[in-house]
Amino acid sequence: MIVCKFGGSSLADEGQIGKVKKIIESNADRKLIVVSAPGKRSSDDIKITDLLYACARTAADGGSIQKVFNRIRERYLGISGSLAGELDEIEHNIAAGYGADYAASRGEYLSAKMLSVYFNAGFIDAAEVIRLTADGRVDPRSYELVKERTAGDGRYIIPGFYGTDPSGAVRTFSRGGSDITGAIAARAVHADLYENWTDVPGLLMADPRIFDNPPVVREITYREIRELACAGANVFHEEAIAPVKDAGIPINIRSTNDPEQKGTLITSSRSAADVPVAGISGKKGYTAVRLEKFMLNRYDSFHSGVLKTLHGMNVEPGFILYGNDSVVFLIEAEKLKEIPDFRDKLLSCPGAPDRVDLEPGIAVIGIVGEGMRAEYSNAGTITAAVFSRLHEHRINPRYTSFGGSDSMLLIGLQEPDFSKALEAVYSVLKK
Ligand code: ASP
Repeated sequence: MIVCKFGGSSLADEGQIGKVKKIIESNADRKLIVVSAPGKRSSDDIKITDLLYACARTAADGGSIQKVFNRIRERYLGISGSLAGELDEIEHNIAAGYGADYAASRGEYLSAKMLSVYFNAGFIDAAEVIRLTADGRVDPRSYELVKERTAGDGRYIIPGFYGTDPSGAVRTFSRGGSDITGAIAARAVHADLYENWTDVPGLLMADPRIFDNPPVVREITYREIRELACAGANVFHEEAIAPVKDAGIPINIRSTNDPEQKGTLITSSRSAADVPVAGISGKKGYTAVRLEKFMLNRYDSFHSGVLKTLHGMNVEPGFILYGNDSVVFLIEAEKLKEIPDFRDKLLSCPGAPDRVDLEPGIAVIGIVGEGMRAEYSNAGTITAAVFSRLHEHRINPRYTSFGGSDSMLLIGLQEPDFSKALEAVYSVLKK
């Protein structure tokens, strides 16, 4: 059994929908389909979800949504005439103030309704089977509900991106959240594979906005994906990893526009012998917060006191680097801007540091791969090559961490060095 999720670009117009139909029908195991709302048809087009959010905002401000909603109406009716009644009702509800979550969810709802006819599949409303807890997490009851409803023969289609909260109200996931619905569905039916169909050939080794044609990563582990995301890569929706990771279901990211390609397979383990590094990512905008305390590890309250204080200010450190008498937290600078007297608050926290220094303008680069673990026995071959290349470019890393995570070498540097450093690292690793 294969669960397939198709993203908005795969469903943007009739031509794309035709490709999706072919993909589904070419394999009888593709029995459970999760769909997004129609995406952009060209680079200057607007996604249906964005139009729906705009309607919800206008309605909340007391304006008329008619003009924007007509654009939505035209797009759906251009593909299927059978939705006219539903569209009228949805326009009415959004205008009546049903709110942003309801409005945004209708993109996926209408998409699935329309495609259930086209793909000859049974429609299941996500509102009936995807349950969310009060704090927006997946309620495990969803797994049973999806399993029950998809028990029959034939094909089923579920709209992505939304479910219902304990009060029965429609709630959406964060943007791109249809990936999460796909993962829930895959786990619910114990799928052999979760195929995530999109408009890119797979995950790329580095950011394609920075580098020309980075190679597609053929195989990557859940752990590597998580590390890449932490160091700034915009990869697979993080929350969509959890349901399938626990169940050991592989995810295959593939392109609707090039279905012959194998894409990227995300699995629980891979052999790192041939490809030690899966990818690199990087991010600017950190402040290094350095705390000093003489013999800090003697104080059992130091770490807990500092972390509690940070969490109390709603600050989650991106990276933590420990020394004997000091600890450095790399924290997103944007977060710190919102906190008055941040330094003073840390100085007087229960951990009682002797000194607190802030160094803004820090960037991080993460070199991620299951093969990093073997670096100790390989005399740090990759690490040595990376540092010597940085040295050739006169770039001095400010922070490094190697070992805390088994599969990532973290390099922190000053922001003006970031682009040059990223290029230097990439030039070592792309071979
Ligand atoms: N349509 C929603 C979005 O644009 C959800 C998704 O596509 O996954 O974010």
